[in-house]
Amino acid sequence: MELLEKRILEDGEVYPGDILKVSGFLNHQMDIDLLKEMGLEWKRRFADAGVNKILTIEASGIGIACIAALEFGCPVVFAKKSKSLNLGKDVYCTKVESFTHKNVSDVIVDRRYLGPEDRILIIDDFLANGKALEGLMDLIHQAGATLCGIGIAIEKGFQGAGDRFRAKGIRLESLAIVDKMDGEKGTVTFR
Ligand code: 5GP
Repeated sequence: MELLEKRILEDGEVYPGDILKVSGFLNHQMDIDLLKEMGLEWKRRFADAGVNKILTIEASGIGIACIAALEFGCPVVFAKKSKSLNLGKDVYCTKVESFTHKNVSDVIVDRRYLGPEDRILIIDDFLANGKALEGLMDLIHQAGATLCGIGIAIEKGFQGAGDRFRAKGIRLESLAIVDKMDGEKGTVTFR
């Protein structure tokens, strides 16, 4: 998506450890006009998928998921990173290793909000090693729901997870795919 790529080139910052910071328009301050265009683009790409719920993971996925949900006319469920105290039979639970913080969290969704009748579009801000997506797909599997597709804002293509999911037949649509980042020069190259 040209608009997003242009914004990444203008305002994105490359940090050590293959981190792309987009705090000025996506991860801290949010440009709602841009988010609206992203929501429209996902709606165009998944128009035929029969989505009736969007699933994301806290915290950074929530904003984009909500704006996208306005286009799909459906609710958003966000998986919560939980303290083990809250675990019980009322929740689906999985474990997710954070790319940015390197710790492993229990991630839960209340059983009331995910079930066999749900046709899910996963939305998230970044795709790096794919751990967050694997966790969300595990929750969908536990609930007996259907995964219709995955919408990612920025995929770091050089980390390989996106192509791994596509090879399995998963419908994964990323609005910008970064194939190369150079921390020293501060450059970003798109696929
Ligand atoms: P994964 O589970 O795919 O390895 O990482 C996905 C999660 O890590 C995303 O939800 C995002 O919050 C965070 N993340 C991964 N790479 C980056 C990055 O380059 N920049 C930012 N801002 N967040 C990232």
